[in-house]
Amino acid sequence: MKINKNYLNLKDSYLFSLIGRKVREYKEQNPDKEVISLGIGDVTRPLVPAVVEALSKASFEMGNKETFRGYGEEQGYGFLRQAICGYYKKKGVDLTEQEVFISDGAKSDLGNILDIFETDNTVLIPDPVYPVYVDTNIMDGRKIIFMNGNEENNFLPMPDYKVEADIIYICSPNNPTGAVYGKEALKEWVNYALKRDAVILFDSAYESYIQDEKLPTSIYQIEGAKKCAIEFCSLSKTAGFTGTRCGYTVIPMELIRDGVPLNKLWLRRQTTKFNGVPYIIQRGAEAVFSDTGLGQIKENIAYYMENARIITDTLKKLGIWFVGGENSPYIWLKCPKNMLSWEFFDYLLTNAQVVGTPGAGFGNNGEGFFRLTAFGDREKVITAMERIKNLML
Ligand SMILES: *Cc1c(COP(=O)(O)O)cnc(C)c1O
Repeated sequence: MKINKNYLNLKDSYLFSLIGRKVREYKEQNPDKEVISLGIGDVTRPLVPAVVEALSKASFEMGNKETFRGYGEEQGYGFLRQAICGYYKKKGVDLTEQEVFISDGAKSDLGNILDIFETDNTVLIPDPVYPVYVDTNIMDGRKIIFMNGNEENNFLPMPDYKVEADIIYICSPNNPTGAVYGKEALKEWVNYALKRDAVILFDSAYESYIQDEKLPTSIYQIEGAKKCAIEFCSLSKTAGFTGTRCGYTVIPMELIRDGVPLNKLWLRRQTTKFNGVPYIIQRGAEAVFSDTGLGQIKENIAYYMENARIITDTLKKLGIWFVGGENSPYIWLKCPKNMLSWEFFDYLLTNAQVVGTPGAGFGNNGEGFFRLTAFGDREKVITAMERIKNLML
């Protein structure tokens, strides 16, 4: 018996446990101080009424002999896949039901998709990065090349034709930086992927936060993308499904490698290793895409984006460099006075009792940067920004 030794190459992630420990210790020593966290990467607004109604209706159906359902299709019910096709249609993207796969979230699919790719492919991953892309490839032993996000490129790295990558990760709007690729920039990535016969894994988890109508909310709005990209999406941040669990992955029929449609491989993978998302949850997800549901989630997103505006206004007043926050719930700022990420973390915690996430935890290029999120309560965001202004103005 041999274990998968690639797992031994994974680095321990101390980021959130270290943040937790530092905050606990501070609170113990300063019990009278109120600490505000702007570090959370989880939503705080509850599910919208349209979703709650659909979830409860579906629960009652499951308790009735006539409407009870057992196993459904592994790739998801037609009603939900059609609702998603309708959502894409409004973005100007035509998809068929067969091109949409329902899952329990984007994280699982982003990891599981690697099943259909050889381990000797070379992977291109941005730095800083959502850690899932790196770790899932280390587990398989793939060669990883990093592309640098930095102040010069506004944390939007562009293709370098000298780099020979087969699988490319793009997350836009980005976690952790909040940076968003425009259409021209994404077109360059599509051109690069087509030229190399590579595949882009496009993480679109934050597409619903895009406010600027000129920015792409799906990679398939870019010509040629159906021939080179898989899109991962999730209701987690869009509709507060982080605990409810539902996402979807799009693999266009036109995406063919080694003469095989990747859609066919993924269908085979999912029908073999996955038994679908609960009927009740899929009905809740369907309600997100109804006119009522879309209207209601828009209000929650507007709430978060107003938080983001309050944060970015403060940073502008303080003359602090940042990206994000305009079309994304994340704000990525440059630590003032050339502080390192963890130095700035300690500085904010001790002097303003505000917690954020040190950029260094997201990769080498994150050093000297810091992530704030817009997912908190309005009052707390306002108080946190007052404190930061008092401290740094
Ligand atoms: C939150 C998030 C997801 C969504 O994950 P789920 O498994 O659907 O909850 C995907 N990608 C990024 C970058 C995220 O931040």
